[in-house]
Amino acid sequence: MAHEYHSLWERLGINIPRLEQMRLGGGESFRRVVLSREHRPDAMAYFDDLMRGLHTTRIRQLQDFRDEGGKVVGIFCVFVPEDLILAAGAVPVGLCSGSPFTIDSADTVLPLNTCALVKSAYGFEMEKVCPYSLVSDLIIGETTCDGKKKMYELFGQLRDIYIMEVPQKQNEQACALFLSELRELRCVLECMTGNVITAEALADATALHESKRQAMERIARTRRAANPPINGTDALLVNQLSFVDDSERFTARANALASELEQRAAAGVGAYERPGPRLLITGCPMALPNWKLPHLVEAAGAMVVAEESCVGSRYFEPRAEPAGADLDGQLEAICRRQLATPCPSFTPNSRRIEDVLRLARDFSVNGVIQYTLQFCHTFAHEAVKLDAALEQAGVPSLQLETDYSVRDTEQLRLRIEAFLETLSRR
Ligand code: SF4
Ligand code: SF4
Repeated sequence: MAHEYHSLWERLGINIPRLEQMRLGGGESFRRVVLSREHRPDAMAYFDDLMRGLHTTRIRQLQDFRDEGGKVVGIFCVFVPEDLILAAGAVPVGLCSGSPFTIDSADTVLPLNTCALVKSAYGFEMEKVCPYSLVSDLIIGETTCDGKKKMYELFGQLRDIYIMEVPQKQNEQACALFLSELRELRCVLECMTGNVITAEALADATALHESKRQAMERIARTRRAANPPINGTDALLVNQLSFVDDSERFTARANALASELEQRAAAGVGAYERPGPRLLITGCPMALPNWKLPHLVEAAGAMVVAEESCVGSRYFEPRAEPAGADLDGQLEAICRRQLATPCPSFTPNSRRIEDVLRLARDFSVNGVIQYTLQFCHTFAHEAVKLDAALEQAGVPSLQLETDYSVRDTEQLRLRIEAFLETLSRR
């Protein structure tokens, strides 16, 4: 089937033999981890197809859009406002950074003590196997953690990358700085697309972005049910796919899924054969196809009911304040919304601790797992404060540090089982 896509891949300059190797491994893990689960909602069929067509159908759609004069913008982080990109008539896509496949290549260049997400992203570019990067007309990085911003310098030797400055604090000076960055990004996008970003176009794009995030939040809310109508891996998959799908289509499909989940929840239909302990996972983002931790946790008998993550609540919860009608007023609202993201690259970042405690309460969790990628100093340091806050609130927690490999699977499994055992005795 993929053969019909060879000419498209060739045109984009993709390393086809490597991409095919990766697709083979990825397809197997998708079947084993996601498709093999029982009691899945019918509306997941759309997201399964989207996943199957990640390197084929979706890339064809993006290239068709470019052939008609459209532009595609690749991004790595939720700080880059998708609505500003949409308002320029371009399409934002998240770039690949969640697979172990490209890490060996990245290890030949990057310092070994770099997190798996950064290595994976760099390795994708080195090996020319991220079709989303190759179909992008512009790639935007950001100054967040040290690992990412220094990697972008090396990435910039492979291909052009535009870097946005994200402040390290969330005060008024930071807001002024970020607002000036948004104004500059507006000019970059206008220059690239040849389209002027009008106040009307931005208002429409923000409304679309808002409805997309509301649909995701609607799905999340259904997981408060005693037996959630969707399992944790499926919920994560939907959140992951939100970064690559067309925003309008995704919103419609996410709302269709939310409606089915609401009906299932009302009828007492759950995704779990035997409901186990309710867990919240908080920490580093889990980019596609990283399902390692939720898979291990749910295979051990627990239910993942919420994620405090950029592929989770950190993406869809921050809200825009009412914007002024003019363009600058709207940019300011976007600025405040983006800076409300509780990312550990901010100091201090107390909002994240409040969010974790609130989510733990709202989703009636029995425990929290702090997920940190090895060598991620930002999340690892914040884990100390978060751990203390959870202990004070009487919420049991487990800190797990891992990477994308399968080397530590057994060790993780034992630690998760021991944690669940502790919860069962409470
Ligand atoms: S954790 Fe921070 S740097 Fe990483 S994707 Fe989220 S907002 Fe961006
Ligand atoms: S914040 Fe942590 S996980 Fe994210 S890119 Fe930086 S080092 Fe990696």
